[in-house]
Amino acid sequence: MADAIRSVTIVGSGPAGLTAALYTARANLKPLLFEGLEAGGQLMLTTAVDNFPGFQDGIMGPDLMAAMRAQAERFGAEFRGGNVTGITLGDRPFRVATGDGDVETRALIIATGASARLLGLPSERTLLGHGVSTCATCDGFFFRGKPIAVVGGGDSAIEEATFLTRFASHVTIIHRRDSLRASKIMQDKARANHKISFEWNAEVTDILGAGGVEAVRVRHVDTGMEKTIPVEGVFVAIGHTPNTDLFKGQLDMDAAGYLVTHAGTRTSVAGVFACGDVQDHIYRQAITAAGSGCMAAMDAERYLEESGI
Ligand code: NAP
Repeated sequence: MADAIRSVTIVGSGPAGLTAALYTARANLKPLLFEGLEAGGQLMLTTAVDNFPGFQDGIMGPDLMAAMRAQAERFGAEFRGGNVTGITLGDRPFRVATGDGDVETRALIIATGASARLLGLPSERTLLGHGVSTCATCDGFFFRGKPIAVVGGGDSAIEEATFLTRFASHVTIIHRRDSLRASKIMQDKARANHKISFEWNAEVTDILGAGGVEAVRVRHVDTGMEKTIPVEGVFVAIGHTPNTDLFKGQLDMDAAGYLVTHAGTRTSVAGVFACGDVQDHIYRQAITAAGSGCMAAMDAERYLEESGI
């Protein structure tokens, strides 16, 4: 038998989605949350999280997500695993398609996040959270007094490299070309920093170490020469991809594919709200994602009340 029409359906199970689930559950809206293939989101790829307020001694990323999930479940949020295969926003109620059939919903909260782009090396995957990181704000502190590398040549890479000099003994920026994409002002700041050096025209071919990073192996694209650089951390800062494929042609997006929100978390379709990294490429923190998840829940609640559906 088909499900009854839902009041609120949430797609995505990172801090934004789980906070939206908690708030809509406590508002008695009986939310259904689709967890996606990477349940828990980006925090499942981290180890210690020291900047989520309330955890004085820090908490492991996966433990934080498990606690958030359990808290939402306690108030009646319902969870489903697996991926959503399609979403139709043209008709009401909205329709969410999954491998197990369709769900109809009056309001939809999108919290599908963004994925950090990775280099695609097997060693990078193995060492992610163990010396390889995609977030300087989150993990910089663990590299006090250690040499590290940052991969990339855009604003993120240069900003992160500059930030990381507060902790690291030295930062090597590894970039695949001989000129940076980053803004001039950020470049100038990085070039003037005595703790930063550049490895130009260099591709990372491997990250070495077992249980922790010991070195990074690069190949110079112009000469073919290979080199091993001893570092204890590698920050991959080659951009993020918002998970918005399902909404192409249905919701307003910016040039990079992030959902555009206005007046809080409203998208270009009434009744559809977006929160977390899928609509934020600036802050990208667990706490800001959770905050916007709360906003989306409250916006959805108001929408349902005002539209009387
Ligand atoms: P980005 O601008 O797309 O830069 C990505 C960088 O990574 C580029 O230098 C690119 O090299 C390199 N790259 C991409 N794929 C690679 C691969 N497979 N292997 C090696 N290198 C690779 O991304 P972003 O730096 O994250 O910035 C995203 C947006 O946010 C931009 O619009 C940026 O201006 C903005 N942003 C602004 C600020 C700020 O103003 N404070 C801070 C951060 C980000 P190529 O240069 O060769 O393509």
